[in-house]
Amino acid sequence: HGTYLRKPEWLKIRINTNHDYRDIKHLMREERLHTVCEEAKCPNIHECWASRRTATFMILGDICTRGCRFCAVKTGRPTELDLLEPERVADSVSKMRLRHVVVTAVARDDLKDGGALVFAETIRAIRRKAPYCTIEVLPSDMKGDDESILTLMAAKPDIFDHNIETVRRLTKRVRAIATYDRSLAVLRRVKELSPNTPVKSSIMVGLGETKEEIIETMDDLRANGVDILVIGQYLQPTRKHLDVIRYYSPQAFDELRDIALSKGFRHCEAGPLARSSYHADEQVDEESRR
Ligand code: SF4
Ligand code: SF4
Repeated sequence: HGTYLRKPEWLKIRINTNHDYRDIKHLMREERLHTVCEEAKCPNIHECWASRRTATFMILGDICTRGCRFCAVKTGRPTELDLLEPERVADSVSKMRLRHVVVTAVARDDLKDGGALVFAETIRAIRRKAPYCTIEVLPSDMKGDDESILTLMAAKPDIFDHNIETVRRLTKRVRAIATYDRSLAVLRRVKELSPNTPVKSSIMVGLGETKEEIIETMDDLRANGVDILVIGQYLQPTRKHLDVIRYYSPQAFDELRDIALSKGFRHCEAGPLARSSYHADEQVDEESRR
C-alpha cells in the first residue's frame, strides 16, 4: 500500500445517538440478527433507523463464501442454515416499526440455491407480520442460477436490487467470483420475469475508474433492465482492503446523477454517502405501499 488520501471534509460526519437508536441496537442483539448498518459501520445509521425507519438486514449468517476486496464481511465456511431466521427478521421489522426494509445476504455458494429459498421465506414472513412495510431484496448473483432467481422472485419483493459494484475493467480486481456479465444477466432476467418490479443496482466510485467507464456501465445497466441507480463513494473498510484512488466531490456526484437521469434511469441516488439502501424508502412506488 502506498500513500493514503486524506478524507475530505464532506465525509467527516458527527454521530449522535438517541433512544430509538439504542433500543433498536438492543433488539438486534436479543434476536441475534445482523444488519449491514452495523457491520459496515454505515454513517447513515441514525438517520435510517431512527428517522426514516428503514434498515438493512443481512440474512444467511455473517460469513461469506466470497472475499471481495472492498468488503468488510468475514470470509470463510458459513455456519449451518438457520431456518427460523425469516421469522426473527420479520418480528424485528414489526417491533422496529420499519416502513421499508432491505434484505441482503452474504454469498452462500455452499448452498445449491444460493439461499434463494430463505430470501423468499423472509419476504413472506415480513408480509405476514409487517404488512405495511415495503421490502427490497439485495441478493448475490446466486451463481446466475435460473431456478434460484425464480424461487426468490416468486415471493414478489417490492424492489429487486443486485449490485454491479464497479465498471467492467475493474470487476476482477474488486469482486470475487462474480462477473460483470453474470450480474447483468441476473438483472435482465429479473426484469423479464417481473417487468413491474423496480430493478436497482449500485456502483462504488473511487477505485480508479474513468468517467467514460462509468458511463459505459450506466448504458449496460439500462440495456439490462435497471431502473434505479445508486452511485456512492468507495471507502476503505480497513488497510487490507483496496485503496481509495479518488474522493469524488459532491459536485462530481451531481454531474454523474445528471448523466444517469439523461440515460433514462427513473431515479438516481448519487453522493459521497449514497449506499444501495440509502433513501431506498423514496424509491418505492407510492401505489405499491400498503
Ligand atoms: Fe443501513 Fe443502508 Fe441506512 Fe446504511 S444506508 S444505515 S446500511 S439502511
Ligand atoms: Fe462482501 Fe457480498 Fe463480496 Fe461476500 S459477496 S465478500 S458479502 S460483497
